[in-house]
Amino acid sequence: MAEPIDIGLYVHVPFCTSKCGYCDFYSHVGKPGAFAPLVDALLTELDAALQREVRVETIFVGGGTPTVLPVELLAKLLDRLGEIARRDGCVEFTVEANPATVDAAKADVLMAAGVNRVSMGAQSFNVRELAALDREHKPADVAASLEILRRSGLTRFNLDLIFGVPGQSLNSWLESLTTAVALGPEHLSCYGLTYEPGTPLQKRLQLGRISAVGDELESQMYLATRETLAAAGYRQYEISNYARPGLECRHNLRYWHNLPGIGIGPSAASYWQGRRWRNLPDTAEYVRRLNAGQSPAIDVEELSPRDRAGETAMLALRTIEGIDPDRFRRTTGFDPLELFADAIRSHVQAGLLVAEPHRIALTQHGLLLADMVMADFLSP
Ligand code: SF4
Repeated sequence: MAEPIDIGLYVHVPFCTSKCGYCDFYSHVGKPGAFAPLVDALLTELDAALQREVRVETIFVGGGTPTVLPVELLAKLLDRLGEIARRDGCVEFTVEANPATVDAAKADVLMAAGVNRVSMGAQSFNVRELAALDREHKPADVAASLEILRRSGLTRFNLDLIFGVPGQSLNSWLESLTTAVALGPEHLSCYGLTYEPGTPLQKRLQLGRISAVGDELESQMYLATRETLAAAGYRQYEISNYARPGLECRHNLRYWHNLPGIGIGPSAASYWQGRRWRNLPDTAEYVRRLNAGQSPAIDVEELSPRDRAGETAMLALRTIEGIDPDRFRRTTGFDPLELFADAIRSHVQAGLLVAEPHRIALTQHGLLLADMVMADFLSP
């Protein structure tokens, strides 16, 4: 019998308590009565997905806000995932949470299921900036929620933060960052705010009701983040991600290494045996299809070997270690130094890339212009 293939398992819970103005994830406020059918449908899709010969290496339950599920439904979902985690020797089991959506009963459910990492959307510790992002929680809710989770025995945390918020100064960003560090998370994700098309925040920008912080200030914030977190003992390992040594997010590293992953739930994406697809982003239709024994997958795409190589390069360039040419040859069949010779030459000359025998990676300056460099690896 063939060896099972390692996968990262992603489970999408699409419900939130309200919709943040910058968010373009598939998420919505859950209507009463929508929670139980969704959890049943997730478990149905999960059972079908795990008919494949796989070993689940990492689990990430995201959304949305998984912790808005009522406690008994949260337990139903996480207990099943915990069984899979124990069976497969899963190394990392993460659940996303938002401040003020966790109580002691829910924290106990996470702990009992074997969750060993919680990722919390703090975003800012400034009241005005939280309001600009339409976040519902208050700054003090982050510490209170962490305290509840720690009391239940959870020990490993990520905090998500956003810089470049309208009205934010370099000082107020650094205040949020140092407040986050003082709470002792093992991992921090610090993203520059993007104005995604169709979001309320982008509309406010177009109407002139808010102003974006300039590129120069945003670059200063990014550079100050790296400096502050390095001084506090966090190692940057991806454009926006920092961790205590050895506590990087294994699930996301699998994604950046373009390794197989199966996504469960509305809008969840999968990558399996050279094929990509995503589930339809519609909770009611997702549940209907699962109940009718139909597949929720849409946008199924067979990747050519060249497309796959381009994607693998682009994702690896997000990491600080960059492209490992040996691993790249083994997994894609292409020599990256030949395949991307033109892009490598021009970006090395511009000081945005280093190309060494064992590493092709963005320079410090290149990290600021990562999207532009990566685009040249994706297209031939
Ligand atoms: S809590 Fe997260 S997923 Fe939900 S609306 Fe806000 S940003 Fe989107």
